[in-house]
Amino acid sequence: MDKKAVWEGVVARLSQTVGKSHILSFFKDSAILDNKDGILTVGIPTIMGLQFIKDRFEKRLYELISEALPDVKEIRYEVKSSLLDEENVDKLDSRMISEMEGKKSVRKVPNRQEVLMPDGIRSKMFNTQYTLDTFIPGNENKLAHAACMAVAARPGNIYNPLFLFGGVGLGKTHLLQATGNQILKNFRDKTVVYMTSERFINEIVEAIGSRHTKSFKDRYRNLDCLIIDDIQFFGNKSSSQQEFFHTFNELYDNKKQIILSSDRPPNDLDGLEERLTSRFGMGMIVELLLPDFETRLAILNTKCSEHEVMIDREVLEFIAFNVNNSVREMVGVLVKAIAEWELTKTTPTIKSVSDTIRRLNRNIDIKGYKQEDDSRKLIVRTNEDVIDLVAQYYKITKSDMISDDRRKELMLPRQVCMYLIREILNQSYATIGESFSGRNHTTVMHSCGKIEKELKDDTRVSRDINALKKEIGI
Ligand code: ADP
Ligand code: MG
Repeated sequence: MDKKAVWEGVVARLSQTVGKSHILSFFKDSAILDNKDGILTVGIPTIMGLQFIKDRFEKRLYELISEALPDVKEIRYEVKSSLLDEENVDKLDSRMISEMEGKKSVRKVPNRQEVLMPDGIRSKMFNTQYTLDTFIPGNENKLAHAACMAVAARPGNIYNPLFLFGGVGLGKTHLLQATGNQILKNFRDKTVVYMTSERFINEIVEAIGSRHTKSFKDRYRNLDCLIIDDIQFFGNKSSSQQEFFHTFNELYDNKKQIILSSDRPPNDLDGLEERLTSRFGMGMIVELLLPDFETRLAILNTKCSEHEVMIDREVLEFIAFNVNNSVREMVGVLVKAIAEWELTKTTPTIKSVSDTIRRLNRNIDIKGYKQEDDSRKLIVRTNEDVIDLVAQYYKITKSDMISDDRRKELMLPRQVCMYLIREILNQSYATIGESFSGRNHTTVMHSCGKIEKELKDDTRVSRDINALKKEIGI
């Protein structure tokens, strides 16, 4: 069996059904390690990746693998950090992943997409993180999302202009940029320009100052799609309004797409001429609203996938519940939590995110968390975490725990510890052995088996394990 070919085929098929290419990044460096006696072992380089893949795809992977290899009866997942090593030949590497994602060329600037631009227009980049895929519509904003999809499919045809409005941090910029990105994806040769209204005004003012309004007009006339964000800042700048009015008409008459956003509906825009606001009404006007709890949670989940991190659902729920006035603020809390996670290698907890929320917004009334809840939940992530916890519980030192010392009072804690690591972190016997002074995997297997047996009739062992699990929060 060509393990690599099978695995590549399975992941490629999985990617077709999940549809979200960022999911694929979780499979980077994974491999089929072994396939013997109907048991196939999949290796994933990190615990987080393993949990993510098991949580989401265990069933589907079983189906796909059994289609390819009908003899397989059971699939085991194992954390194997050595897969990160460059020379491992069986694993899925980044190149294969990008091929599956259908990426044709290497991006020159990370996260930015270069845009074909006529001379002299400066706004050149889109943030490629903002896509229509990563925008979670929810009930509140599905109309806005659908309108953007329609515009991206047929720019200049329907919903022209498209006018999105809504409060701060509800996703206007995201949708505007995502629509621009999608138009460029659908029509490679179209010229799409995104800019903020300030930038647009600056360009106009410069053009007027240097008496180059004609060339300014010519430049914009050649666009296929003009996107201007936050047009509430247009107010009371009459000469730029005048220019904008001309540009708008010119584009509109030539069936070029115009997309605008503002923090309020067209009629409430101060200082904007009536003739301009009434033109905005010729197309489609959609309001963005604050998403409900479920949608906010889904947004947080997408952001975690984008950052390739996993954070406890409980913590995400806590953020979604408490930061409920702006998606931007909510995402801000998450990004801070992720940064903290990356810097300190500590998992975000309800306590740490509630501190972050307080730092960002002192007046907020945080619900679902009380000061005395501090140690309510202890989260273990690594073998070391479990070893520390179990050593503490049995009041022995960590070095005794992992030593070769065969005293009876050390044997039980050690076996319990191995058993818990196996059960909670899903580690292989070999990896567990490494954490215990390089013990052989059969020793670990024997210890785990012993505890499993004792759990059935020894009340002390099952009491200890239950107490430890409770402390861990499971
Ligand atoms: P606005 O321009 O309305 O002030 P942004 O577009 O800057 O808001 O959105 C703020 C943040 O919230 C961005 O990170 C954006 O990706 C995110 N966001 C807002 N709404 C959604 C949504 N429905 N799905 C996914 N992300 C969202
Ligand atoms: Mg914005």
